[in-house]
Amino acid sequence: MSALIELSNISRVYYTGDEAVVALDSVSLSINAGELIAIVGASGSGKSTLMNILGCLDQPSSGSYRIDGQETAALQPDELARLRCQHFGFIFQRYHLMGDLSAAANVEIPAIYDGAEPASRSERAKTLLSRLGLGDRLRHYPSQLSGGQQQRVSIARALMNGGEIILADEPTGALDSKSGEMVMGVLKELHREGHTIILVTHDIHVAEHADRIIEIRDGKIIADRRTRENPEQPPTHSRRSQGAASSPRGRRFLDAMKMAFHAMAGHRMRTFLTMLGIIIGVAAVVLVTALGTGTQRKVLSQLTELGVSTIEVYPGKDWGDERASSIRTLIPEDADALKAQPYIDSVSPILSASGNVQYANISVSAEILGVGESYFKTGNLKLKAGRLFDQGDIQAKAQLAVIDDNTRKRLFPHELSPVGKIIMFKQMPVVICGVLAPRTTSFGGRNLQIFVPFTTVRSRITGQETSLYGLTIRVVRQIDTRLAEGAVSELLTQRHGRKDFFVFNSDQYRKTYEKTAQTMSLLISSVAAIALIIGGIGVMNIMLVSVTERTKEIGLRMAVGARRRDIMLQFQIEAITICLTGAVLGIALALVVCALPGEDSSDFPMVLTGGAIGIASASAITVGLLFGYLPARNAARLDPVVALSRE
Ligand code: ADP
Ligand code: MG
Repeated sequence: MSALIELSNISRVYYTGDEAVVALDSVSLSINAGELIAIVGASGSGKSTLMNILGCLDQPSSGSYRIDGQETAALQPDELARLRCQHFGFIFQRYHLMGDLSAAANVEIPAIYDGAEPASRSERAKTLLSRLGLGDRLRHYPSQLSGGQQQRVSIARALMNGGEIILADEPTGALDSKSGEMVMGVLKELHREGHTIILVTHDIHVAEHADRIIEIRDGKIIADRRTRENPEQPPTHSRRSQGAASSPRGRRFLDAMKMAFHAMAGHRMRTFLTMLGIIIGVAAVVLVTALGTGTQRKVLSQLTELGVSTIEVYPGKDWGDERASSIRTLIPEDADALKAQPYIDSVSPILSASGNVQYANISVSAEILGVGESYFKTGNLKLKAGRLFDQGDIQAKAQLAVIDDNTRKRLFPHELSPVGKIIMFKQMPVVICGVLAPRTTSFGGRNLQIFVPFTTVRSRITGQETSLYGLTIRVVRQIDTRLAEGAVSELLTQRHGRKDFFVFNSDQYRKTYEKTAQTMSLLISSVAAIALIIGGIGVMNIMLVSVTERTKEIGLRMAVGARRRDIMLQFQIEAITICLTGAVLGIALALVVCALPGEDSSDFPMVLTGGAIGIASASAITVGLLFGYLPARNAARLDPVVALSRE
C-alpha cells in the first residue's frame, strides 16, 4: 500500500535574529491512509511545527513532503490553500471558533472556500452537528457553548469538506477529562469510518487510544511504535465529492459581502464612526454639486431674462468715455439700416433723459427712455397691465408711457394697475398705457424707468437733437451673436466713416459668468474631494486596526482553505461596503438638507441631479477601493501559522 503522507529528511529552522533554532531535524515519516497516530513529546520538542508542515500551513526549510504522491515544496500559497481545503481538517487546542458566528455558520466556513452551494453547505453543517450531538445548538454562539461542545463544533468544521486527514493539535488539552473522553470517542469513531487522524498530545492516556505512537524530542523522532500488533484495517475513507473547482464569481462575492456585513455589524459604533467621514464627504460632494447646478441655472435664467442674443451699441470708445456725449453720429437712420439686415430681428433706438416725474403731490426722480416699439421684445420685458406702444404711436409721437414696477410702486403705492393715469415730466403730460412686470433678476439697478416713444422724447424733450443714446439690437435666433456683432460693427463703421461707437454683447455676461462658475466649481470640488480623501484615510486606518485585531480569524480562514485572494476580497469588500453605505447615508443627508425649508432658498438654490449622486457614489467606491487595498493586502499576506498563533 502506498503511503498517503511521506516525509523524508524534513527540517525546519527558525531564525530569530542571527540565532537559528532547529525545530525539526531530518524527520522522515510515512503515514498510511486510515491510521490513527499520536505524536507525543515534551513542550518545545517540535510537535506543532511538524503538524503545521503536515497540514501545509508551513513549509519545511529542507526535505521533501508528498501527499498522495504529490510533492508540496513547489506549490504556490494558493495551491497549498487548495490542498488544505480539500484534504485536511484542523482541530485546535483552543478551538479557534469565530465568536460572532453561530455554531452552524462556523462549521460552514471551509465549504465556502470549497465553493459549495449555500443550501447544501448549511444542510451538511446541520447533519454534522446533529451527529455530534449538537443538533439543538445550531444557532448558539461559541460563548454560549461549553468547551467540549465548542471542540465538537470544531470537529464538525474539520469534517465539513470531508476531513480526509484530520490534524488535531492537543484537542483535549483545554478540556475536562469527561469532555476529553467524549472528543476522543468521536475521533476514534471517525477513524473507524476511515479518516486518517493525526493528533498531538502530551497526555499518555490520550495517546493510548492511537494505533501508533510517535515520540519526538528536540526535533527528532526517537520512537515510533504500534500499540496493537495487528490493528484491524479500517475501510479506506472515500473522499467526499468535492464542490466546484472554484465557486462561481457571483457566489464568492455574495459570501464575501455577507462576511463583510457580519464584521461591520459586530462593531456597529466603530463602523458608524468610520463611515462618518465618508458620509460627510459624500454629502459635501452632493450638496456642493447641487448648489453649483442650482446657482448656475438661476444665473443663466436671469441672464435669459435680461435678453438673449442682444447687442447694444453706444457712442464712444467704451463705457464712461468722456467724449461720448459729443459724438452725434449715431442716428435713427442707423437703426433703419440695421433693421434691413437679414440677421437682425429687431432694432430699437434709445434716447435718454432724466428728471422729476410727478403724479398728484408725489414727485420722484426717474430715467426717461425714448425707445422704439421693439425695445421691449429685445430686452425681454414683460407687460403686467395695459399695453405697450406700437409703430403707430411712435409715428404719431404719442404722449404715452410704459412704466416699470419700481415707478408704479413709488407713484401709485396703492394701485396695481394705474393705466390711464396722467403723469407730468418736464411740463409734458403723458398717459400711462402699460405697466411692466417686476423683474426677478438681481441684475440691473433699482432705478425708476419710464419708457416713452423715442419720437415723443425727441420732439418734446431733447428738441431737434437727432443723435441717439444707444441702440439695442436683437439678433435672429439661429445666428451667432459674435458674428452678428462683427457685422453690425462693420456696417456702422462704414456709415459713420470711422469707429466712433462700441458694441456690447449680452453674451459676454454669460461667458464671464460661465468662466467664474467653472473656477468656483473646481475650487469647491477640490474641497469636497479632500473631504472624501480624509474620510478614506479614516477607513484605511480602521481597516488596518481591524486586520490586526482579526489576525486569528484570518489565520483560521487560511487554515480551512481560504486563498489569499479570498482574504483580499473579503477586506476589500468590507472597505467598499463601508464606503458605499456611507455614500447612501451621505446622499440621504444631502437630500434632507436640500428639503429643509430654508428662509433664503433663493440665495442657495440647490438642484440635485442624478449625475451628482452618481459621481458621489462612484467616488465613494473609488475611495473604498484605494484605501481598502493596503489593509486587504496586509491581511492576505499574513502567514497562516503566525496568524493562528497570534494571541
Ligand atoms: P511543541 O509544539 O512541541 O511544543 P513547537 O513545534 O511549537 O513545539 O516548537 C519547536 C521549537 O521551535 C521550539 O524550540 C520553539 O521555541 C521553536 N519555535 C516554534 N515556532 C517558532 C517561531 N515562529 N520562531 C522561532 N522559533 C520557533
Ligand atoms: Mg505545540
